Amino acid sequence: MVDLETTDIKSMYYNELEEYIHNIGLPAFRTKQLFSWMHEKYVGNVDEMTNLPKDMREKIKESGFTVLEEETRQVSKKDGTVKFLFKLSDGQMIETVFMKYSYGNSICISSQAGCRMGCRFCASTIGGLVRNLSASEMLEQVYAAMRITGERISNIVIMGTGEPLDNYDNVLRFIRLITDEKGYNLSMRNITMSTCGLVPQILKLADEKLAITLAISLHAPNDEKRRKLMPIAEKYSISEILEACKRYFEITGRRISFEYSLVKGQNDSREDALELSRLLKGLNSHVNLIPVNSIEERDYEKGDNNSIQNFKLVLEKNSINVTIRRSVGSDIDAACGQLRRKYSIKV
Ligand code: SAH
Repeated sequence: MVDLETTDIKSMYYNELEEYIHNIGLPAFRTKQLFSWMHEKYVGNVDEMTNLPKDMREKIKESGFTVLEEETRQVSKKDGTVKFLFKLSDGQMIETVFMKYSYGNSICISSQAGCRMGCRFCASTIGGLVRNLSASEMLEQVYAAMRITGERISNIVIMGTGEPLDNYDNVLRFIRLITDEKGYNLSMRNITMSTCGLVPQILKLADEKLAITLAISLHAPNDEKRRKLMPIAEKYSISEILEACKRYFEITGRRISFEYSLVKGQNDSREDALELSRLLKGLNSHVNLIPVNSIEERDYEKGDNNSIQNFKLVLEKNSINVTIRRSVGSDIDAACGQLRRKYSIKV
């Protein structure tokens, strides 16, 4: 049953929108039209919904139709990466990054305004969590980026500001809506969700049986080192996380990605690489090495190229699938949360 007070129509599933349309006294065929305007044509202005009568368009406007306002934009001269700072209706700012790859366009979206996970090297967590984003605010990051750039997006990574599994229901709603065949109809396989490793939610996600890729922010080969970088490691051990990953793989058949940010002197030695290889041996996985992006507030540094290449070689020698994350947009504030943070200090 849809609550008539619910006004966020862009977050509604098709059947909920159907009920809403019925409850406000409109004919059933309007559902398909409205859903298509929102999710298939992703218009940003209600008045572009030309086959809807004017009074219906007015009702939609009054209902609080979510659109994001572009506050500012940085464009990389090197590779065309665009970093958007979007303003939400309550004035909160969020970052979204649009990237061009040979296989298509990809977007990195935020799932929360701020974050409460407290990873030491991450700029997004410094001001703590402000609030969860709604499904429509996540959808709008994709839709607004496509409206602005005029390009289609074929891959979504939920890897911007926020911990997606800490905003479980809204993120799941977002995933189900963006993959709805009556809407944008993106393939589940083209979505990656990155988590710092909330074990109960990983298990719950496995049971949803979605074909999305799960990426785990591991960042250390053992619990002791991980606790120094990530407070969440006090709550869940690496072995608990790996157990949950195995289950995720068993149920979904999807290979797990592990993100490993290389921090000079903390987790980037040859011993660390060997220990990581032992840890992941036999797991159907892929390791993404990310040379840490230094942020102003902390003194973590990346190692030199040699040490990064050597780390990769050790993993390869031990038959671990590994790549070094291509760094895009290095001439703009590319590190997670840097633009948002700069902006919130300014205002
Ligand atoms: N909360 C989720 C997703 C957001 S962060 C998670 O923890 O996975 C996306 C990835 O970027 C994570 O692996 C995160 O640890 C990493 N990251 C954040 N700040 C970074 C920095 N300054 N340098 C390198 N990687 C960073």
